[in-house]
Amino acid sequence: MTEKLYYQDPYLFSFTATVVSCTSAGDGYAVELDRTAFFPEEGGQYADTGLLSGIPVTDVKEKGGVILHTLPSPLSVGAAVIGQVNATERLRKMQNHTGEHIVSGLFHSLYGLTNVGFHLGHDDVTVDLNGELSREDLCRVEHLANEAIWKNLPVRAEFPSPEVLATLDYRSKLELTENVRIVTIPGYDVCACCAPHVAYTGEVGQIKLLDFARYKGGVRIHMLCGMDALADYHARYVATAAISAKLTAPQGEVAEAVERLAAELLEKKAQIARLQDALAAELLRALPDGDAPALFFENRLDTPARRALVNGAAAKRPLAALFAGDDESGYAFLIGSNAIDLRPFAKAMTAALGGKGGGSATMVQGTLTAKRADIEEYWN
Ligand SMILES: [Zn+2]
Repeated sequence: MTEKLYYQDPYLFSFTATVVSCTSAGDGYAVELDRTAFFPEEGGQYADTGLLSGIPVTDVKEKGGVILHTLPSPLSVGAAVIGQVNATERLRKMQNHTGEHIVSGLFHSLYGLTNVGFHLGHDDVTVDLNGELSREDLCRVEHLANEAIWKNLPVRAEFPSPEVLATLDYRSKLELTENVRIVTIPGYDVCACCAPHVAYTGEVGQIKLLDFARYKGGVRIHMLCGMDALADYHARYVATAAISAKLTAPQGEVAEAVERLAAELLEKKAQIARLQDALAAELLRALPDGDAPALFFENRLDTPARRALVNGAAAKRPLAALFAGDDESGYAFLIGSNAIDLRPFAKAMTAALGGKGGGSATMVQGTLTAKRADIEEYWN
């Protein structure tokens, strides 16, 4: 059994220990110490990182009471080592994890909901609850959870005797009756938990419940605490400030400003569509009836206007073709006909002029790599 120093002091980030065993495991080595401050991957949290005598600890796992540190190079059995836990990373996890206790405790006492899943990742923290809730519920719990921070309550962790344990009402109830670690935040939460927590709720800093969505018959809440919440606020502030400056609208009114912009955009699109229709109609009016193919080199039309023009021209001529592009990047073509089957025609043209395309008997489209002069020569 490894002595778990993080139980005695969750703020112990530097410690000395003796190497008990070192075996090769995968690409690296699994090192067992007589004692450690490294908290393993457990309870939805990823493992602590840091150094053992200067060698990076890339993973930490617990197997039957023994904690194994994954290292890229070996350590000698019996050697004294200095362990250094990445303190910022651990504090971040302690803030988020303690915040989660407060939030889960509140959802439990106020709404009878149970936390059925917790994930503390590198950039996301989620809590899964086994029932429904509303946006108002979320706001209420967020406010009450932050009140718990302002009260700066002590966070206690202890191993009660089986007799005392039997009298306790706590979350995450285990089958075990001995060695159950109970974490208490007075008035907010009593829960069986093995992870490190901050000593006072004030250290959580702040709790932000970002969003929630239906998940496996309940809900999944995305939340951030402490330094993560502050970094998130900063990122959102910078983004909102940039949008506000671009829209010349106060930060609190950017949503309305975007709505106005979207409405304007919609109106402009409708206006452009009307102009495109008018331009296609103008080009069609200028085309006299005849037997020669109608040929347009026209870059000003969008797709619907191109179709309208080619369809209209195919009613006046046996063949109508529109080319859009330039000699450098090639041409997109659209050909219409009511007189011939265009599929073999397009095949022959793309073979002669270099390109590809396809469509129906009455309309084909595609691209050509040929220059305008060659296209005109082919068609005349
Ligand atoms: Zn906990």
